[in-house]
Amino acid sequence: MTKVIKKISEWKKIRNSEELKNKTVGFVPTMGAFHQGHASLIERCLIENNISVVSIFVNPTQFNDPNDLRNYPRTLDSDLKLLEKMNVDYLLYPEYEEIYSDNYRYKIIETDFSKKLCGAFRPKHFEGVLTIVLKLFNIVKPHKAYFGEKDYQQLKLIEGMCKAFFMDIEIVPCPIVRDEDGLALSSRNLLLTNEERKIAVNFPKLLKARMPNELIKEELEKLGFKVDYIENLEGRRFGAVHIGKVRLIDNVEL
Ligand code: AMP
Repeated sequence: MTKVIKKISEWKKIRNSEELKNKTVGFVPTMGAFHQGHASLIERCLIENNISVVSIFVNPTQFNDPNDLRNYPRTLDSDLKLLEKMNVDYLLYPEYEEIYSDNYRYKIIETDFSKKLCGAFRPKHFEGVLTIVLKLFNIVKPHKAYFGEKDYQQLKLIEGMCKAFFMDIEIVPCPIVRDEDGLALSSRNLLLTNEERKIAVNFPKLLKARMPNELIKEELEKLGFKVDYIENLEGRRFGAVHIGKVRLIDNVEL
C-alpha cells in the first residue's frame, strides 16, 4: 500500500520515526500525469533504496505562462494506481499554502546557466524549479534523488545547487524514455491532438539528424513548429519547440 501524505507535519513524524531509522530513503519529485519516463525513475529508486518517496506537486512558481499551468494534465487517480502497483511506500501530495507559507519571498537563484536554453525563453522558470526542489529535499531528507535527462538543464542546475550548498544528497541522472517512434515521453504529450502527435515525431528525428542547427530549425518551421531554440552544448544538441499550444523539449547526445 502506498501511503498518501498531504501534511508536511505528518511526513516529518514518519521521517523521524524508528521505522525509518537506518533506512535509505530515495526520492522522485514529479508534477504527476505519470508515463513510463516517471516509472523508470521510480523503478530505479525502488531498487536502490529501502524506502521510496514520490511527490506530486504542480509547482506554480515554475510556470511563466498561466495557461500552461491551467492546462497542465492532472491525473491523480491513475497516478496513484501506478504507485500502488509499483509498491511505492509514500506519495507526498502537499498543498500550495503549506509549501509556500512564505508567499515565495525566499527563492533560489542561479545566475548563469539558468539564463540559457529554456531559461532564455521561460523567465524565472529555474528559480521556481530550484526553490521547490530545495523545499522538497528539506522536507523529504532523501539520501538519493532521481531526475530525468529529458530535462537535462534542470538536472545540471540541481546538481550544481547541491554542490554549491554542500547538500548531502546524491543526484541520480536517468536516461530519456521515448515512445516507439522516438518522441520523448512527456506529460504534455497528452495535450497534443492526433494530428499534432503525428507531426511531433519529426522533432526528435531532426534533432538527431547530421545537419547544421540552422537547417534543422528551418525544417521544423516548414513542418509547422515554432522553434524556441536548437543549440549544441557539451556534446549534446538541445531543442525546444511549440506545436499548437504545447511546448516540447528534448536533447540528444551528438
Ligand atoms: P515532471 O513530472 O515532468 O516534472 O518530471 C518528473 C521527473 O521525471 C523529472 O526528473 C523529469 O526529468 C523526469 N522525466 C520526465 N519525462 C521523462 C522521460 N521521457 N524520460 C526520463 N525521465 C523523464
